[in-house]
Amino acid sequence: MSLRHQITNTLFPPKCVLCGRILEKNELDLCADCRINAPECPVRQRKLPFLDSWLAVWHYEDSVRRSLLRYKFHNKRHYAAAYGRLLAMKILRERDGAFDLITWVPISRWRKLRRGYDQVELLARAVCAELGMEPVRCLRKIRHNPPQSGIVGQAQRRANVLGVYEAVAPENFRDQRVLLLDDIITTGATLSECARVLLTAGAKEVHCAAVAAVKEHK
Ligand SMILES: [Zn+2]
Repeated sequence: MSLRHQITNTLFPPKCVLCGRILEKNELDLCADCRINAPECPVRQRKLPFLDSWLAVWHYEDSVRRSLLRYKFHNKRHYAAAYGRLLAMKILRERDGAFDLITWVPISRWRKLRRGYDQVELLARAVCAELGMEPVRCLRKIRHNPPQSGIVGQAQRRANVLGVYEAVAPENFRDQRVLLLDDIITTGATLSECARVLLTAGAKEVHCAAVAAVKEHK
């Protein structure tokens, strides 16, 4: 370990990305407790329109929810590396060889200017770094819509995202199997709309991978 690395680790010891506890030397990204007890999201799930498959690392609840809120709204952009490692591991385990390129659900320019970063683009870069790939920009958000989190009802959420995204350079993904990354899957309305746009522009298949998904209520 370099001296600079040692000093940084002493001043800013790495913490568990979920509960914030300072990590032991043999721990990476998660403390032993969270590694065992975090609410893992099983792979077999409800079908989402236009998506060939989807997976998420965790259910969106408790410490996972608090962690993602810090990542999105409290400038914890360095969480991207940890999320990226954990998501890349799950992708390798479940979808190895099932896609040709990786892209992400973009935020609007306006929101990126306000937040200072596109949290899903950072996630895509981190996942790709783990997999030895480069993310490919395939979508652009062309309209600034109200956040999905404030909208109740599946039909209303679908309407809120309709026509909000457009394809970028479709020649890059024509006849390709696309892995679309997102941070949180709530109802899947945004993902389905993005997948619809990608398929209309020539993608062969669209799969999705996210850090967390809201547990379905039956
Ligand atoms: Zn923890």
